[in-house]
Amino acid sequence: MHSVLVYHTIDEVKGQPVCPEMISPERFEQQLRWLSRRRRVMPLTETLSSKRSLVALTFDDGYRDNLTAALPLLEKYSMPATIFMVAGFVDRDGYLSATELREIAKHPLITIGSHGLWHRNFNELAETEARLELTESRRTLESITGQKITLMAWPYGECNSHLEQLSGECGYAASWSVWKGSNGRHSRWRVPLGARDNLVRFVAKATGVYALTEAKLHRYQEARRHSGQQSAGILPAFR
Ligand SMILES: [Zn+2]
Repeated sequence: MHSVLVYHTIDEVKGQPVCPEMISPERFEQQLRWLSRRRRVMPLTETLSSKRSLVALTFDDGYRDNLTAALPLLEKYSMPATIFMVAGFVDRDGYLSATELREIAKHPLITIGSHGLWHRNFNELAETEARLELTESRRTLESITGQKITLMAWPYGECNSHLEQLSGECGYAASWSVWKGSNGRHSRWRVPLGARDNLVRFVAKATGVYALTEAKLHRYQEARRHSGQQSAGILPAFR
């Protein structure tokens, strides 16, 4: 089973992470060091076709520290990563500027994907809005980077079967969620990481142990929400 890990911001303020998604540079390096010894970290698109169990690294939102703090460590351990940039956040305080995004997009270890235009929850958007978010974010990022943008990650990890289809129609080759959707080509599941993840939790997440239980749990909750049925008779389907 692949482990596609989700990072956000690699930073700390006075030695403490200030939000649940924040991971300090020291801890990030500890994780990369462990990965370099124990797992194969490959470009994200490899996880679409490879039968071997791989790890891929992704960064959501496009924080500026992905360039200043994460990239030097990715270089040190020669590990590829995909940055899913919110197109409308380019040049905002704390996020990559257009110039920085253009530079980092050229880096051999980095792939740029879209994370929507304004980081909205796609499940709450009308189809025309969802379509606009998908196509305009892609166009904006393509015009900044001069590269083709074919990968996408759903903001908040949220999507559904209709959105999965829409993403393909809007020109994406593949999209990633966080436990939501069918885990198909436009809703591949990822494992979120944050300040709570010490090395023991990280190892569980990077080896697929965590995903096995967590994915089952999410599928189970989802099925209960949709069907309103009792637990008996549903759970075996997710074993
Ligand atoms: Zn996000």
